[in-house]
Amino acid sequence: MTAYVSLSARVLVNVEALNMAESVGNYIKHRRVPVVVEEDGSTVVKYVPAVSGESVGHGYQAILGQLARQAGLPVCDNCYKEVFTKHASKEMFGTSDWERKLKELIGKKDGFSPTQFEAEVIRNCVVEDLGGFLYAEEPFQVKRSSLFSTGYLIPAADALRSVAVEPQFHVRYSPARPEEGQAIYYVEIGSAVYTLSFVIDVARIGWTKLAEVKDVIGEAERKKRVEVALKSLAAMIVGPLFGAKRTRFLPSWEVRSIVAALSGPMPFITSPGHTKAYLSSTALRAKEFVKAMNHGNTDLKQQVTIYYYNGEGLTTPSEDVSPAVLKPGFASPEELFATLITDVVGVSG
Ligand SMILES: [Zn+2]
Repeated sequence: MTAYVSLSARVLVNVEALNMAESVGNYIKHRRVPVVVEEDGSTVVKYVPAVSGESVGHGYQAILGQLARQAGLPVCDNCYKEVFTKHASKEMFGTSDWERKLKELIGKKDGFSPTQFEAEVIRNCVVEDLGGFLYAEEPFQVKRSSLFSTGYLIPAADALRSVAVEPQFHVRYSPARPEEGQAIYYVEIGSAVYTLSFVIDVARIGWTKLAEVKDVIGEAERKKRVEVALKSLAAMIVGPLFGAKRTRFLPSWEVRSIVAALSGPMPFITSPGHTKAYLSSTALRAKEFVKAMNHGNTDLKQQVTIYYYNGEGLTTPSEDVSPAVLKPGFASPEELFATLITDVVGVSG
């Protein structure tokens, strides 16, 4: 069984400070990235506010750690505390029994393999099963790549004329320097229609993949892990439940639209949400992709099912998209995720 979930979304975000890049004196700057855009017939570079993929990835793993433990699934203590040093070196191991035993086995060298190391960590920590880790000490390196991929939140191309980054004036009392009274500081806030993307390889949850491909956890546990992985994604996007400074700069966050795809055996990635045509673009690409993959003499049975929430007048495809499947639009992001999770957990068995 193979199954990938990919998702693109457009979110109207006002007054956010989700990813601050540096402070210069009392001025805290928002992260900015260069984007290339077409303007009046030529390409120009614009610097726009953004939130890094590292920030999104951190937020996702933080939610996953909490949700997995609440669901009765194993998470190591460091990941549960949102310290994602993972099992990178023996000093970073926690004090659980399985971690102590793993240290002893590493010391024995002979008869102990990288696959056994990978399997032990997968078995005992859902966050590292999903988010990967790198052990980089003697006697061998053990690398597990992340099963999910994500990237920067950047302003949507069709909304680049309506993007703002602006410093906000604040004061705070500084007890360490009472003679100075109130201290002035500035925080840059960003406002834009952002687009974000996320892809997850749900079928490989619970399987080693470094040296040997072995099922470590079995189907029943895998279903639970897949469910928690997708619920974490839903919580993060409907939230927002990631990024910095949310205690006093909780953004005004409104999910305008979502396009998701369930695909296999090859991954199919949804088009980024740069314009309101990304639903029709994704569906028409899916149609051609399935036709191309299933064409010829091989037994490949490529499938792509598209799910969408349209809260902003997205263009819908003007033609039949079979052999891909386009589900009817959902009334809310939450309904979309509920159906998607049911469908994925159904096919992951
Ligand atoms: Zn962990």
